[in-house]
Amino acid sequence: MTFKYAFLTFFILSLIVKIYLSFRQSNTVKALSNSVPERFSSSINLADHQKAANYTIEKQRLARFSAVVDFALLFSFLFLDGFKLILDFVSEFSISPILVGIFFIYVVILITNIIDLPFSLYKTFVLENKYGFNKMSLKLWCFDLIKSTVIGLIFLTPVLYLLLYFFENLSSLWWFYSWLLIVITSLFLQYIAPTFLAPIFNKFNPIEDLELKSKLENLLTKCGFRSNGMFVMDGSTRSSHGNAYFTGFGSSKRIVFFDTLLSKLSHSEIEAVLAHELGHFKKNHVKKRLFLMLVLSFFFFYILGFFHTNGIILDSFGFSTSVNNAVALTLYFTVIPVFFFILKPIFSISSRKDEFEADAFAAEKSDSNQLINALVKLYKDNASTLTPDKLYSMWYDSHPSAHERINRLESL
Ligand SMILES: [Zn+2]
Repeated sequence: MTFKYAFLTFFILSLIVKIYLSFRQSNTVKALSNSVPERFSSSINLADHQKAANYTIEKQRLARFSAVVDFALLFSFLFLDGFKLILDFVSEFSISPILVGIFFIYVVILITNIIDLPFSLYKTFVLENKYGFNKMSLKLWCFDLIKSTVIGLIFLTPVLYLLLYFFENLSSLWWFYSWLLIVITSLFLQYIAPTFLAPIFNKFNPIEDLELKSKLENLLTKCGFRSNGMFVMDGSTRSSHGNAYFTGFGSSKRIVFFDTLLSKLSHSEIEAVLAHELGHFKKNHVKKRLFLMLVLSFFFFYILGFFHTNGIILDSFGFSTSVNNAVALTLYFTVIPVFFFILKPIFSISSRKDEFEADAFAAEKSDSNQLINALVKLYKDNASTLTPDKLYSMWYDSHPSAHERINRLESL
């Protein structure tokens, strides 16, 4: 019982912190929206600056609303007998305990997704539309939803089956084998993501502009990256936001440019962006993240094992230790991550440090002024705010602010 109230206190406090940080972000952005920060006054005009401010404020409003709804949903699952009602419903079907368990988990996922659906629709077709970013038709959105649901079912069902089988048959070490299973599955998914999963949604082509291609290939050779790992993605079929990213590992690793990014930047700016992405690879950020994932997930499953042995969580939420294992798993996967909110700033700080390192690598291998130009263009075109709130940014931001990145690049 004490655990239940400790959880509830933390759960409410984290909602309050989320809402507080979001209001801080909105208020800071609003307060600084009347003039373009001096550093950017020659490249970004007032109208664009205000567009970024309004876009940020509207995204925050949606995030707050969504946080409250997510809170209410989890609250009803845990404190208003939601999980118990779902269990009663699925137990009506006379199938094996493992199948009842999988059915239970899918009903929980279905309810969560149905509640999230209006937010996703609003974000794409109202918010992104209003600011001219959405390029998706409702038809494409539905196809994406169907495709991702089918892919999710194909991969999740056998994994859930095995997890529940381990739980039932491997006594006290079930958590260790479950961890192994999750690690192997996620490595496999990361490996096939660039070559098999991503092409289900987007088209990936080699770079057509030969002059640009040879410029970029030179840089790849200089950095010791195999040259057939570079692709252009048709991001413009969904959104006008531009980006570039690094994906996969081993022989499946790739650097992907959105076509929207290539159309906005000059060749030298694209080269600088590529150098930044290569920085993530060369500075071992990809390996570091994989290693971190291994360690943290081990820790997480160890905690699951610990709580399952002593039965504290099950008991707190009114379940006996003989309840269907899927209910226990679902309970652990909903309750324990709530405490991870407090860890968010640590991951953000580590991610921002990696971004600085990748920027420094780019400055060394290409031209820091070109990277600065590219960053300013991307901030402007993506309507990203130049004036985030310090505390909000410290907690959440995976990238340093435009000011910090450019100041650091200029000092190199
Ligand atoms: Zn980066």
